[in-house]
Amino acid sequence: MSEAHAPGARGPEGTIPLAVPNIGDLERRYVLEAVESGFVSSVGPFVAEFERRFAERVGAKHAVACSTGTAAIHIGLILLGVRRGDDVVCSDFTFVGSVAPIAYLGARPVLVDSEERTWNLDPALLAEELERRARVGEAMPKVVEVVHALGQPADLAPIVEVCERFGVAILEDAAESLGSGWSTGPLAGRQTGTVGAVGCFSFNGNKIATTGGGGMIVTDDDELAARARHLTTQAKVADVGYLHDEVGYNYRLTNLAAGLGLAQLERLDEFVGAKHRIAARYDVAFADLPLVLPPRLAGLDATYWLYSVLVPETDGRGRDELLGHLSERGVGARALWRPLHLQPPYAGAPVVGGTVGQALFERGVSLPCATELTEADQDRVVRAVRSFFS
Ligand SMILES: *Cc1c(COP(=O)(O)O)cnc(C)c1O
Repeated sequence: MSEAHAPGARGPEGTIPLAVPNIGDLERRYVLEAVESGFVSSVGPFVAEFERRFAERVGAKHAVACSTGTAAIHIGLILLGVRRGDDVVCSDFTFVGSVAPIAYLGARPVLVDSEERTWNLDPALLAEELERRARVGEAMPKVVEVVHALGQPADLAPIVEVCERFGVAILEDAAESLGSGWSTGPLAGRQTGTVGAVGCFSFNGNKIATTGGGGMIVTDDDELAARARHLTTQAKVADVGYLHDEVGYNYRLTNLAAGLGLAQLERLDEFVGAKHRIAARYDVAFADLPLVLPPRLAGLDATYWLYSVLVPETDGRGRDELLGHLSERGVGARALWRPLHLQPPYAGAPVVGGTVGQALFERGVSLPCATELTEADQDRVVRAVRSFFS
């Protein structure tokens, strides 16, 4: 998303970048160690260490590293038994990487809208849809894929309740929400990605922690973890010459990438702290403006991975006018995700609701929030935003 700018660098003409990786000495040290060890590919000590420490960090029993977040979701759906012709519920308001793996499997996405409170999957709409299916005798979706968009946890407890009631598995797309979780209610103390049967993370260059490109599958189920490991390594049977007992995938993370990831993981608290500080400063600076600020909900602890605001439509001046205004002032802002039901490959998918996600897209603007954003640069962003309304 934000990879138009070189890591750590300023954009053209001193543009303040939206979000760029934070790569320091620790990252350099681990990557160099991987290079010098000769283990640069998918065998090597950093992969296992990254998996072990990641599982520990998020509070899952197992973590299996993958080449991308999209690959993690693809394998996650296979683990949960998704096959051709199945329905899979997916949040409508999300990045396209959430849904493509459903299509890879020949399954049909059923797109459920967001709620205004969290900007994430609406538990009431999901309950209506599953209750409707039960009433008319329509097959249940195989999986409900819940996205925690922009670092904001979904209101997952009622989703868990309704999915348990109808026997539907949950896959959490936590690609954008590493470091976020719940602090009150039935899920108190849990982190996003560890509640559903399977959770998937991404370490793409724009995420809060990066491996250049990479992903992670987490689960508490021993068998699912073993199967994930098998499927991501070409379904190769150990110790038997080139025997592959099912169709597998070449989805393993490289040791080089895992070295980078381990360093980023060790700095995750620093990154989350920076995102919180940036979000808190924006919240104060914009408190009197006619903007909708990102959700702040007791017990749903967001990272504010991508600090985003909603622009009111006044005098025909909305999102595009604000984006243009900021661009002219060297501020690298960006629109939010176009909901999946407006994406050509998924235009025919059933939609439940559809107006909240669309409004987020039509009104949403993400503002610079790189973990290395200086207060002086943030003040420049604030002045640019305020001058739009004056
Ligand atoms: C980034 C992202 C993905 C895909 O991850 P990649 O590592 O880029 O393949 C999936 N879902 C969401 C919500 C994402 O933001």
